[in-house]
Amino acid sequence: MQLFEELIEYPEAERLVLQSTPRLPVEEVSLGEVLGLALARDLTATTDSPPFDNSAVDGYAVRSGDAEVGRVFRVVDEAPAGRPARESVGEGEAIKIFTGGVIPDGADCVVMVENTSGWGETFELKKVPAPGSNLRAAGEDTRRGDIILPEGTEIGSPEVALAATQGYGALPVYRRPKMVVLSTGTELIEPGTRDLAPGEIFDSNSYALVAAAREAGAEARRLYAASDDVDTLRPAIEEALHTADVVVTSGGVSVGEKDLVKSTMLDLGVEQVFWGVKFKPGKPLFYGTRGETRLFGLPGNPVSAMVCFDLFVRPALMRMTGRTDRNRPRITVYFERQIVNKFGRLHAMRVGLERTERGWLAESVGAQGSGLVSSLTKADALALIGPASDGIPPGEPIEAIVLRQEKLL
Ligand code: AMP
Ligand code: MG
Repeated sequence: MQLFEELIEYPEAERLVLQSTPRLPVEEVSLGEVLGLALARDLTATTDSPPFDNSAVDGYAVRSGDAEVGRVFRVVDEAPAGRPARESVGEGEAIKIFTGGVIPDGADCVVMVENTSGWGETFELKKVPAPGSNLRAAGEDTRRGDIILPEGTEIGSPEVALAATQGYGALPVYRRPKMVVLSTGTELIEPGTRDLAPGEIFDSNSYALVAAAREAGAEARRLYAASDDVDTLRPAIEEALHTADVVVTSGGVSVGEKDLVKSTMLDLGVEQVFWGVKFKPGKPLFYGTRGETRLFGLPGNPVSAMVCFDLFVRPALMRMTGRTDRNRPRITVYFERQIVNKFGRLHAMRVGLERTERGWLAESVGAQGSGLVSSLTKADALALIGPASDGIPPGEPIEAIVLRQEKLL
């Protein structure tokens, strides 16, 4: 029988994971696929933006020196967006122009149509425009050669917009990690396929873990639920190893006779970094590497699987993509009641948060059983309750990892 040889502390486990996680190679990824990735080098402006002087309004391009209330102008051409005028603007002349149209030669301002008698072959000026009014100058947004986004920037929609204005069709980013999830357990049934027979449950972990990985910016897919025998498990893990940067299994990693994940991984040449963390929920967590691939054997209890994902796998995925700015915020909380930790290991307690004059009040979401999936939907944070067994007095400051950042707003 296999037993835990040596349990390590949570900070040590986190350190070992991050220390062995390199950034993924740099790749040019097309603009449509870069959301959530991080720039691997500074991005420079390839062109002045806007590239030419253009109109900010619909109206007439004129010479400001000619402008006088009541003066009638002759319209000699037009300059819609995308079609520069052929004519230039002479004295007493105007060119009809629309937003984004190129400012024609001779003109130094645009008068809004609202400040004229209206559209026509001639118009009368109702209000005098200042020189330069309603004109957007070339390069006023960005100038060619400027660094517009520094290396490490996480790409959101504004960054996509800015890169597109510069004609970038692809961006140099740290490649998106590929994660494969394999759930293990003979009792597991694919949700939506049929009713449960006695002893069976639906496989919730693999769907949850894929969803969590996508939230963290990874490309994730689930394999299938493998049953608890080596003949099924081994080819499944081999298949996962084939394509993944990160393999995540759920279940079968503790000390039971049917817990074959760790031994199968070791048989497949995985090097164990650690197995067993002084931590709740998730004591049996396994972490190993094979070549460039990282493998996490998460416990099967759904809460343990999700909390271990959040505390260990998510930071690793972030690290791979270079998104160091996306670690979960940590805050100090307090409890109104005395908190007891009978487990003798760090307890990441699921809590709700409430802002009070004294700071953040934490309240347990209720029973902390590792099978209580509904408790996850109620948790705003994980309060890190140290291994103290004799109780933490009310009001004592405690560190918490915020899961729902919107709570802090
Ligand atoms: P294990 O870690 O394999 O001993 O599983 C611990 C508990 O988690 C058992 O009650 C399993 O039935 C349950 N479990 C394991 N895998 C899953 C899964 N993919 N989805 C939901 N529950 C699971
Ligand atoms: Mg199992």
